[in-house]
Amino acid sequence: MKQKKARFDTEVIHAGYDGKSHLGSLVPPLYQSSTFIFDNAVQGERRFAGEEAGYIYSRLGNPTVKILEDRMAVLEHGEAALAFGSGMAAVSAVLVSLTKTGDHILCSQGVYGCTFGLLKLMNEKYKIEYNFSKMNSVEALEKEIKPNTACIYIETPINPTMKLVDFELVVKTAKEKGIPVVVDNTFSSPYLQRPIAHGCDVVIHSATKYICGHGDVVAGLVIGKQEFLKKVAKTTQKDIGGVISPFDAWLLLRGLKTLPIRMDRHCENASRIFQFLKTHPKIDKIYYPGDPDHEDYEIMKKQMEQPGGMVSFTIKGTKETAQQFINHLQLIHIAVSLGDPETLIQHPASMTHAVIPADERRKMEIEDNLLRLSAGLEAWEDILEDLEQALEKI
Ligand SMILES: *Cc1c(COP(=O)(O)O)cnc(C)c1O
Repeated sequence: MKQKKARFDTEVIHAGYDGKSHLGSLVPPLYQSSTFIFDNAVQGERRFAGEEAGYIYSRLGNPTVKILEDRMAVLEHGEAALAFGSGMAAVSAVLVSLTKTGDHILCSQGVYGCTFGLLKLMNEKYKIEYNFSKMNSVEALEKEIKPNTACIYIETPINPTMKLVDFELVVKTAKEKGIPVVVDNTFSSPYLQRPIAHGCDVVIHSATKYICGHGDVVAGLVIGKQEFLKKVAKTTQKDIGGVISPFDAWLLLRGLKTLPIRMDRHCENASRIFQFLKTHPKIDKIYYPGDPDHEDYEIMKKQMEQPGGMVSFTIKGTKETAQQFINHLQLIHIAVSLGDPETLIQHPASMTHAVIPADERRKMEIEDNLLRLSAGLEAWEDILEDLEQALEKI
């Protein structure tokens, strides 16, 4: 294995794996095994007691999964990582681990629909309070943080309106008060944004999206400090049990190798789509962090390498106009999820964010004619031609 720390594009291929310890296998082997054999009774006892390193049972750890975790820790500049069976398994393991009854979570204004659902569930069942915050000034943040605030939870770019939260601003205030900052980095991937390098404490991914990159796995990841992740591994991961399957971890290791190449293309295609839609007479608002008119453009330049592969926009007209438009698309598929080779489009108000009550949705600027597009890897000319022909028909 290489000795010195290499560049990101090299680490996605090599970090956390040494073929010499695996019979020279170029590619990390798939340990598709639920359990591991002990040499004798005492070895089993010592492994359970934590006195001897080694595998026990795949809910507690698996060699293929471990390679993925070690690689992700390097890519996100964290000490350690844990893999989960879905992004939501990762989000819930972290939030349940950080809070107890009576605590408060301060959350960015706008969050993934199921994360919103989880906050509501934790409130109803365990009396954990939550508030949404724009997080755009230190003064406001200081007022919104309560004595019982147990964590600050950020999504940036925010799904689906692509607003950004300034890490520097939040971290400064949170650090003074000793509150951990958790970031859902799904929309950027570590290739575009590394929150831990900006002082955030925990990073979460729905690995289903850009990390996988091929639309064939549902998985999640958490990256952070060794001590915190040890606690998660021994409690909310082990006892709630939302672990990843070894095969899915193997597919993620395979997908990760091309992350930089894919992201460059996703970003280029998104930029072309933005330029095309920005001046189109049938488009009203456009939400894309690479737009110099975007309110958070300066934050994008400060903390992201590129503006990402997502573009949201409102069609002039009603919910029905937006629905007619996507029904006319031929190449672009109507589907939730993102970060796949196929360009996907969805209607947040009736799909990913339908669980959020209409008044909350409005506060998040999720209008009924808003659409969210995930730029795929196709030739951008074909994507634009498809958008054009569907826009002509409405
Ligand atoms: C998809 C998504 C999730 C949930 O991840 P799953 O893998 O679907 O469980 C969480 N946050 C964001 C921003 C997402 O896009």
